Parts: sequence; C-alpha cells; structure tokens
Amino acid sequence: MSLTEQAAAAAQIPPQGGRAPGAAEGILRRQALRESAARTYARSLPIVPVRARGLTIEGADGRRYLDCLSGAGTLALGHNHPVVLEAIRGVLDSGAPLHVLDLATPVKDAFTTELFANLPAGLASDARVQFCGPAGTDAVEAALKLVRAATGRSGLLAFAGAYHGMTAGALSASGGATDVRVTRLPYPQDYRCPFGIGGTEGARLSAAWTESLLDDPKGGVPAPAGMLVEPVQGEGGVHPAPDEWLRRMREITQTRGIPLIADEVQTGVGRTGAFWGVDHAGVVPDVMVLSKAIGGSLPLAVIVYRSELDVWEPGAHAGTFRGNQLAMAAGTATLAYVRRNGLAERAAELGGRMLAALRGLAADQPCVGDVRGRGLMLGVEIVDPDTGAAAPALAAAIRQGCLDRGLIVELGGRHGAVVRLLPPLTLTDEQATAVLDRLADAVPAAAH
Ligand code: PMP
Repeated sequence: MSLTEQAAAAAQIPPQGGRAPGAAEGILRRQALRESAARTYARSLPIVPVRARGLTIEGADGRRYLDCLSGAGTLALGHNHPVVLEAIRGVLDSGAPLHVLDLATPVKDAFTTELFANLPAGLASDARVQFCGPAGTDAVEAALKLVRAATGRSGLLAFAGAYHGMTAGALSASGGATDVRVTRLPYPQDYRCPFGIGGTEGARLSAAWTESLLDDPKGGVPAPAGMLVEPVQGEGGVHPAPDEWLRRMREITQTRGIPLIADEVQTGVGRTGAFWGVDHAGVVPDVMVLSKAIGGSLPLAVIVYRSELDVWEPGAHAGTFRGNQLAMAAGTATLAYVRRNGLAERAAELGGRMLAALRGLAADQPCVGDVRGRGLMLGVEIVDPDTGAAAPALAAAIRQGCLDRGLIVELGGRHGAVVRLLPPLTLTDEQATAVLDRLADAVPAAAH
C-alpha cells in the first residue's frame, strides 16, 4: 500500500470494540517520521485513541485504558461527558457562527455569567475578564503584560519549581529559566524542603526569605509588577502550598502594592477539592489565570482581574482566536456541572481517600519516597531506596508498567520522578479502586 492509501485506511475508525492493530502501528510509525522531535506525551504513551468516554480511552488496537492524565488535567468531567457533548451540539445545531473574534454572543454571555458566578466572591464583585489566546500559556502572557502595564514595573516574583507554559514570558517565569527580571523565590515543600525542615517551620522560613529579600534595599530584586504563584505546583511535582503560607504571600504582596497572580490553569474548577486552589486559604488574588477545564475539553483561556488593573487601551492585547464558541459552550456546561454536583467536595473526599491508600502502598514500597497531593491532584515520588535520590528511570518504568496494565499516568517533578494522577472529578469509587490496584501492581513489578 502507498503512504496515502495507508493513511486513508488508518483514518477509518474501527467500530466499537473493533480492532485495527495494523492501522495503529502505521499511524504511530508515520507520526514518528513526520512530527517534530519536540513531541512529548506521544513518546511515552504510544497509543492511538479512537474513542473515549469518562475515564476510559479505547485505542485503535481495541485496548482500553483508564485515563488518569485527563488531557494534562483538562478533563474535569472526563472524556465526552453528555452535558459537554449536548452543549457543543446545541451550538452546532443553532447555526450560530463559530468564529466571532471577540464579539459579544449569547454563548459568550452565558459563559461569562457562569464564570463570574463561580469566582471567589471578593473578586467577582469587581472583576474584568479578558479572553486571550486559547492556551494556558497565552493567559500567563496576558497576565504578565497586564500587571506590567498597570504598575509600570517590569520585574516579576515567581517560584522555584514553577511551571507556567512554553511561550517566552511564561517560560521565563517557570522554574528552569534564568530571566534576570524574574526573582526566584522558594516554594514550600515538605519533602526536599529547601531549608531542610519541611512542615510549618519550612513554610514560615520560605515566607520570611521572600519578605526579607523584598525589603532589602540591596536585595537585587527588580521592582516587581506581580507575584505569580500556583496554589498547587503541578508539573513541578505536585506540591500543595500550605494555606497559611499562601495567606502570607497575599499579605506580603498587598502591603507592598504588588498584584498577586494565581495561576489556576491546572488547579481550577474543583481539581484540588475546592472550586479554585486559592479558596482553601481564603485568598483573593488580584489576577487569576484560567484555562484547561474552563473550556470543557476545548481550547479556552482567560484572565480575570480586579477592575482597577484594567488600564489597557483598546487593542492592547488582541488575537484572532479569542471567541471559540464551542469551547465557551462546553466550558459553561462544565463549570455549571461541577458547581451543581458538588464535584469540588467530591474531589476533596475521594482524593483524601486515594491519598491515604497511596500512603498505605508507600509503606510497603521502599522506592516510594513520598506521596502528596490535594483533591484529585496526586503525586507519588519515586526514589532510589538506597540513596533517596529521585529515580526518573524507575518512574518511567512504572509509567510503562501502568500502561501495560491499561492505566495512563504521566510523570512530573523536578527530575521527572513523580508519578502523577489527575483523574476526572467524576471518578467513581470503583474506578478509583481499579486505578489504585493497577498502580499498586505496577510499582513493585517495575521495582523488581
Ligand atoms: N500554568 C500551569 C499551572 C500549567 O499546569 C500549565 C500546563 N500544564 C500551563 C500554565 C500552560 O498551559 P498550556 O499548556 O495550555 O499552555
């Protein structure tokens, strides 16, 4: 068969329960030949999804997988939730335009109303929303540009281990970067605490360091336009910020006139067991950066901020793709479903039980150095049992072992040694047990 004939054959999605292992192999082979060396998940998860519902993905080879990656934490309701599909079909069937730049539409109006209804009360009463480019990283760029315009300053406070995206500004604020305008501050961690203590005292020292640096006239901190923080560091290895520490960051920024920007791209919409990650601490940021779940599985990103910061001239931050009607409809349905069905509370409760179960697993497995998380954002740090050093190769073997057992997980953390679980908030107790069983089976198998 020629390449085009092969591609045409592969494009035929096999019927439900059907198998097309040959087609899957061809697709994977062509992907490896034609797509950029920068491809990521496609390398560690060599599957060809053809159908999905809730937690389950079906591959072209007929295999089924429990998906605990959920589009990198996007799928609050899992794949193809009926309310999301209904919302998308509603727009398609209505004849509404799909592309509208940033014009007002009933679909957008409904999204904004639902979004504002869910914002922290202290922000909702005085908020502006800006629809930016469709990815999380676009929203981070918009937020950085906004606070720089509003304050007239160019510096930025960000945290070691942070991840904010892959465009230049967002990347410069992320942990691995060396932008001179970005002052890198310690993020509290119990395990591998930068001060060697962990717990409340470690968090207190992290805050004290931040404060003393900001107040030191010779501290070398470029005048900060804002502080950018994740309520739980996700890609950095699942580190929940202690509530008291986050409140200190709010006080420290407030008293110094520095806008606090919460990057809720991954923590938002119930993921951590509260509607927003900042809600645990009762903190009201000046800017919230939102994406992933707010688009109900389609690309959508916004920043929401206090009206006082709205200094932008018309067109100061524009873009062609700011009006994705399908994403707004899917997002409205998702936000409303999470709110009405108490899925944040459900994530807190089920996540708490899964955390306890994972800690039970860790007790028997010397290669599990730490288990941590908040809500349904869970992480298992894999270490060398002899040295305690992060063990990325073993973590990768566990990820592969999970895949072999029909469970999709990804790795994160400074060294790529943290097995991460981001299941949908609709996860049932039985599904949670199945996920934990497969992981519990894969860990000792890989360790041996
Ligand atoms: N911020 C956080 C906290 C994230 O987790 C991510 C993506 N994992 C981003 C920003 C960037 O989002 P995107 O990949 O959509 O650009």
